[in-house]
Amino acid sequence: MASSPSPIRVAIIGGGLTGLTLAYYLQKAGVAYDLFEASGRPGGNLYSPLTPEGYQLEAGPNSLLLSAELEELVTELGLQSHIQEAAPVSQHRYVLRGGRYQALPASPPALISSNFFSLRTKLRLLAELLRRPTQPVPGETVAAFFERHFGAEVVQYAVNAFVAGIYAGDPAELLLSLTFPQLAALETQYGSLLRGLAKGPKTARRRTITLRGGVQALTDALAAKLTNYHPDCRITAIGLLAENTYTLTPQPPQPAALAPYSHLALALPAYAAAPLLRPHFAAAAEALAAVRYPPMTLVYSAYDRAAVAHPLAGFGALNPRVENTYSAGSIWTSSLFPDRVPAGQVLFTSFVGGAQFARQAQEPAATQLAAVHHELSRLYGIEGAPRWQGRYYWPQSLPQFDQYLAAARAAVAPLAARGMVAVANWQAGVSVPDCIKYARRLAGQLAANK
Ligand SMILES: Cc1cc2nc3c(=O)[nH]c(=O)nc-3n(C[C@H](O)[C@H](O)[C@H](O)COP(=O)(O)OP(=O)(O)OC[C@H]3O[C@@H](n4cnc5c(N)ncnc54)[C@H](O)[C@@H]3O)c2cc1C
Repeated sequence: MASSPSPIRVAIIGGGLTGLTLAYYLQKAGVAYDLFEASGRPGGNLYSPLTPEGYQLEAGPNSLLLSAELEELVTELGLQSHIQEAAPVSQHRYVLRGGRYQALPASPPALISSNFFSLRTKLRLLAELLRRPTQPVPGETVAAFFERHFGAEVVQYAVNAFVAGIYAGDPAELLLSLTFPQLAALETQYGSLLRGLAKGPKTARRRTITLRGGVQALTDALAAKLTNYHPDCRITAIGLLAENTYTLTPQPPQPAALAPYSHLALALPAYAAAPLLRPHFAAAAEALAAVRYPPMTLVYSAYDRAAVAHPLAGFGALNPRVENTYSAGSIWTSSLFPDRVPAGQVLFTSFVGGAQFARQAQEPAATQLAAVHHELSRLYGIEGAPRWQGRYYWPQSLPQFDQYLAAARAAVAPLAARGMVAVANWQAGVSVPDCIKYARRLAGQLAANK
């Protein structure tokens, strides 16, 4: 890769996916950089442990939507042969309703013909087609927006479960403008979301994939390509030498100070960036410290296939809060990627936590494993004990795209004029493709100043 001296010098704090991607594209463009990662393992949320019993687990992303940018990056890193498509059954998703899993209709016509929603809600869906274009309601939550369009039942059984499953969030808290800006735009243009979705620009259906050996292969490969990646180097303070010149203080035994940098990229969670900003930018630090990251535990449960009555022909199942379950739902890992478990077994990856299930996320491990096994047995008709169980705990999982996050983004925006930019998932969007797209675009902007 080309690397030539440049007048700008970028310090990237945080070696998760966004920090590593930013560093990779800066290096490619010949921009001087250093990337500091607190832990010995690159990748942050991308963590794919293989257990001695032969279960290939994911502690973070379990599947990825293959965007153009992700595919390009994977190809450049020589990982194309690692791409593994999800099994075709993954198109089917299930939602708990009245204690029983029911298939979620995948399209508006399927929704009208299925019995998933009541007649009243189906009539409401038809009436939605007649809505006239309107301007967005400022500060509207995801729940309020969907209730306005489709009524309370759709929020309770579809939106609630989906938002808990993808954002670990509560639709009554998340802001539409931050979480689904594309839907706000459809309302402005078409009024009706259903009409907008039918008439609006068609995007090709993205493939759902993983990488053989786990998604962590992506961040491992990125780190291996970098010339200026510094693992085991936690940054404990930022110093401001002059208007736009920064120094960094790493935790000993690293050298006492690292300097000077013309630009700082904060590629770390908002709660970790806050103490670094506090001495210089107190108001921005307070706004970052207020961003909410609910706890989340992933519980893995393996059974003999013959012990599970349910066919598990799908991606997995979501449990809306109104059903009062212990977990927010489960991915049927062995249905998506059969080679991740020993032959003749099935593996559930259950999500215990998020904004709506936060209490359960913090219970002792033994309580969680027993509660999830009990719940799976009841919902899937499972006989006997699990072959194996395990868990992974995130004390602070995903940033919530709510009013506090809106305030944090507004508070850091003016710092860009001083060479300091935020690039982690709370700025870029939570999905892996969003993080890659944002970091790559930022690298292009920084390279243009070179
Ligand atoms: C449970 C879970 C499931 C998910 N599922 C999916 C999914 O199915 N599909 C999908 O697309 N996305 C999913 N995501 C989201 C996606 O994985 C994340 O949004 C993305 O990986 C975040 O990357 P990041 O680099 O912004 O942050 P992080 O991964 O949080 O990385 C930040 C890094 O900063 C480091 N750091 C912190 N403080 C310091 C310091 N002071 N000095 C130096 N380094 C520091 C940390 O060690 C860490 O490595 C999931 C996330 C989680 C947690």
